[in-house]
Amino acid sequence: MKLLIMGRPGAGKGTQAVNIREYYNIPHISTGDIFRANLKEKTKLGLLAKEYMDKGQLVPDSLTNDLVKDRLSQADCKNGFLLDGFPRNIAQAQALDEFLKENNEALDAVLDIDVKPEVLIDRIVGRRVCKNCGATYHIKNNPPKQEGICDKCGGELMQRADDTYDTAYSRLKVYDEQTAPLLDYYRGQHLLKSVNGDQDFAKVFEDIKKVLAK
Ligand code: ADP
Ligand code: AMP
Repeated sequence: MKLLIMGRPGAGKGTQAVNIREYYNIPHISTGDIFRANLKEKTKLGLLAKEYMDKGQLVPDSLTNDLVKDRLSQADCKNGFLLDGFPRNIAQAQALDEFLKENNEALDAVLDIDVKPEVLIDRIVGRRVCKNCGATYHIKNNPPKQEGICDKCGGELMQRADDTYDTAYSRLKVYDEQTAPLLDYYRGQHLLKSVNGDQDFAKVFEDIKKVLAK
């Protein structure tokens, strides 16, 4: 299964990606996670990406497209993948289409997790992530059993540097201006499958399985 997962920042893409990865047995490729891992290692790419991420802006396509192509060329993506956070504009979508065409591959579906903008700021600023295993929590909607500690691995929970009010507003604006046009792009290719992301975590995943089975 070759999938994209789309949705506004905070819609629940990363949360549902974990379920999808396990259920369909496909690698989860998040460009945001790749940039953050690079930043942790202080690579040139990570330090460059940080300048854009801190402002809630998109990292330039020239860096992002090559990174995704390299990742999709790895053996574990041959039978499927779930791309999360890419593409984020039309140029990235065209680069992905070109890459897939060159490799005689095609997407099976583009999932859109639809959440009304009003709840997203709260989801973003309340998000906590495990420093060790990357598991995602929310201080109100999905709190860990023990405050600040990951249920899964006991690691320390942290807040992402870009999960502030100011940056969240910029990211939502960038989504509306640059990423939202992709919904029509993929609707035109008859790939778009929307799911209501403003429901309980488990119900969102039930709906994802249903739309993917159609
Ligand atoms: P994205 O990857 O789309 O930015 P995340 O999956 O990281 O979003 O979710 C953002 C925040 O919202 C997290 O703190 C997560 O726990 C919470 N969240 C995700 N899905 C739901 C949901 N269905 N209901 C309530 N909160 C949710
Ligand atoms: P995310 O983890 O998807 O919320 O992304 C966090 C940040 O990483 C974004 O606000 C961008 O600065 C950067 N980023 C992630 N994916 C992309 C992409 N496909 N294109 C450009 N920038 C990206």
